[in-house]
Amino acid sequence: MPETYDYDLFVIGAGSGGVRAARLTALGGKRVGIAEEYRYGGTCVVRGCVPKKFMVYASEFSHIFETARGYGWTVDNPTFDWPTFLEAKDVEIGRLSGIYAANLGKAGVDTFHARAVLKDAHTIDMGDKGTVTAEKILIATGGRPWVPEDLPGIEHVITSEEAFHLPQLPKSIMIAGGGYIAVEFAGIFAGLGVETTLVYRGPNILRGFDDDVRAHMAGEIEKRGIKVVLGCQHESIEKTETGLVSHLGNGMTLETEQIMFATGRVPHVKGLGLDKAGVELTEHGAIKVDGHSKTTADNIWAIGDVTDRMNLTPVAIREAVAFHETVFRNNPQAFDYEAVPTAVFSQPPVGVVGLTESEARKACGEIDVYLTRFRPMKTAFYGDDERTLMKLVVRAADDRVVGCHIVGPDAPEMIQLAGIAVKAGLTKAQWDATCAVHPSAAEELVTMRDKQTPQSMSAG
Ligand code: NDP
Repeated sequence: MPETYDYDLFVIGAGSGGVRAARLTALGGKRVGIAEEYRYGGTCVVRGCVPKKFMVYASEFSHIFETARGYGWTVDNPTFDWPTFLEAKDVEIGRLSGIYAANLGKAGVDTFHARAVLKDAHTIDMGDKGTVTAEKILIATGGRPWVPEDLPGIEHVITSEEAFHLPQLPKSIMIAGGGYIAVEFAGIFAGLGVETTLVYRGPNILRGFDDDVRAHMAGEIEKRGIKVVLGCQHESIEKTETGLVSHLGNGMTLETEQIMFATGRVPHVKGLGLDKAGVELTEHGAIKVDGHSKTTADNIWAIGDVTDRMNLTPVAIREAVAFHETVFRNNPQAFDYEAVPTAVFSQPPVGVVGLTESEARKACGEIDVYLTRFRPMKTAFYGDDERTLMKLVVRAADDRVVGCHIVGPDAPEMIQLAGIAVKAGLTKAQWDATCAVHPSAAEELVTMRDKQTPQSMSAG
């Protein structure tokens, strides 16, 4: 290797993917630098998965108090103090971000707190932090919230980024969108006692998920007090003396104290100098990569949300490992995007892995569907109407379980384990040969005997 470069690898972006790639490569004896313009840990740790989960935990208490009362506890007027929570959350996020920075240091990675811009395929400019050169470059700059800029009044809305730092909890909020972030934050705000309305343009929330999951979720979140308005868009937003008025496409107007747009995220590529380095974008604005995360420039790779493949933290980490193995260990690897388990931390939460029923019908031909809806024993005890949904999609030709879908308490925990069975390609008979754990909700996954018939489906 020519000694003319400052680094063997320079990583732009210290989120989950970038940090993993930088550490592995430095631990392998290479000279590695990393630039981060904000805080170590990226979206997941600083303004995504981790703080979101703390907010979910905080908001779940309202339901927990209700359950406690159902079991005979006296829970007198519990109150929630948002500033206390925010302070504790920020301390913990600071601690976790510090661990990321410390681990980079321990691995021998040079860290630059700077915005990095490519000057050419080997040169990275970091303003007052200087200019460095690298033989190989990895771009892992993640994504940013996207809002429809042309919507009149859009300047008054917040995104998930601001939702983590609101000075006060609003009395009411309208959330636009029907994806992961919209549904998760609707649950968070409603649980914290905020009057919450979800407005989604499509026929049902969580597009891309199994239709039974979508219908079940819409019903369950309404039971938790969230007003769901489907099939309509914002036409404009107006700021008045008392709040923000949403003018919706169906003629409805609604005033709330806050409006949050969760209308998707876009790859963070602006101002990176990609054109100077020969890195091309897809038509959707993501960095174009091949199966080994290599960009259109020979010495530059990209992983994580900036490539807009499967925008999940564990996927970015796996892409980082595959990149490291391929590029630095002469062991070409490509991450396998099939049967990746995922969870929506809504209330109740969702856990899914594999194919939806409609995907399976297209991909597998004949399929069998097993579905159960039941009241979990914990909340049925005091007459709560919450229901859990579990669904297995089975390829009839070989009895293989190709999809598992759960809505209900602990669904994310269950789906991690069910994901092993789906990924391993186990058959329904093998699932059924596994003895149940009783009494649990998860036991339903190995005790579903009756296939859905057209009659049982129409009975719902
Ligand atoms: P999603 O892509 O999941 O959802 C965006 C939502 O906004 C969709 O409902 C979409 O509608 C709607 N939308 C898009 N454009 C408009 C518009 N112009 N007007 C009105 N509505 C619009 O994005 P999120 O921001 O929720 O999340 C981004 C990604 O981050 C997720 O896809 C996921 O990969 C990841 N993520 C994962 C989490 C987890 O693992 N728990 C948590 C949070 C995020 P339509 O469906 O009609 O397109």
